[in-house]
Amino acid sequence: MSAFEGLTRPHVSIKIPAELFEPAALETFSGTLSPVALVRGAQRYSLNEPLTYTLTLTHTGEAFVVAGTLHASVTTPCARCLDDARYECSASFTEYVFVSEEAAQSKDLEDDEFFVLPANHELDIIEMLSSALVLELPNLIVCSDDCKGLCSVCGCNLNKETCSCAEKRKESDVEQHPFAQLRSLLDE
Ligand SMILES: [Zn+2]
Ligand SMILES: [Zn+2]
Repeated sequence: MSAFEGLTRPHVSIKIPAELFEPAALETFSGTLSPVALVRGAQRYSLNEPLTYTLTLTHTGEAFVVAGTLHASVTTPCARCLDDARYECSASFTEYVFVSEEAAQSKDLEDDEFFVLPANHELDIIEMLSSALVLELPNLIVCSDDCKGLCSVCGCNLNKETCSCAEKRKESDVEQHPFAQLRSLLDE
């Protein structure tokens, strides 16, 4: 499950005008959405700025085809070092919004494959936009391609600090080597 955090409901629906119920009518709606974050499982993506979207609705008789695009700029902990990592996400998607429950049922679709327009013709766009964004966000986002991550021994951020854990490990590998003692004899 995924969901936007910090959204106030009244501003996130589109009122479908009567003209759009004419055969083959088409209209484009653009706007912004200002959630604080998108949450997917344990992962939290903070929105750096309002998400922008464009939705083109085409009436096909029993449904509206929604062709949408969105852009969101998010910040989330880097998968390697846990510092802030930014990601610019653009997504395009297509959804079906049936004009009634009956029209949808005649299509033999899974529940999550379509939306049904409520009687007041207010189309809720939150779920449409959050699922399109989730699908487009990579599972692992890194602060930079060459992020060095955290030291697996002491936990320090290797982008900012250097530690001697890797060297110590090398030394102890040498000590455990069967010829290590021989080598120390030769060194003398
Ligand atoms: Zn990083
Ligand atoms: Zn270390």
